[in-house]
Amino acid sequence: MDIESKILRNLDPIKKASTNTRYSKNVPGKWLVDDSCIDCDYCKNIAFNNFKRDTEDGQYYVCKQPTESEISKCLEAKKKCPVNAIHGSK
Ligand code: SF4
Repeated sequence: MDIESKILRNLDPIKKASTNTRYSKNVPGKWLVDDSCIDCDYCKNIAFNNFKRDTEDGQYYVCKQPTESEISKCLEAKKKCPVNAIHGSK
């Protein structure tokens, strides 16, 4: 899905909630990025150990589940993600 379509979908909270799905490249675990990511780079800049960009799709994913010491950075990335595409908890 192109960025423009993702932005339009993200503007409609009902559509977003009903259509977003886990991006396939996330490593197994409770932290994940869904497919509404708009490729803004925030998460990587905050928690660079845990988020990586898929250059083919222009989409971020969780490349490594956070350790105890990395969780606070992932929580910060989740809070700052402009489209609430990051999911996970302590
Ligand atoms: S902060 Fe959110 S929208 Fe931005 S790259 Fe990360 S997951 Fe994607």
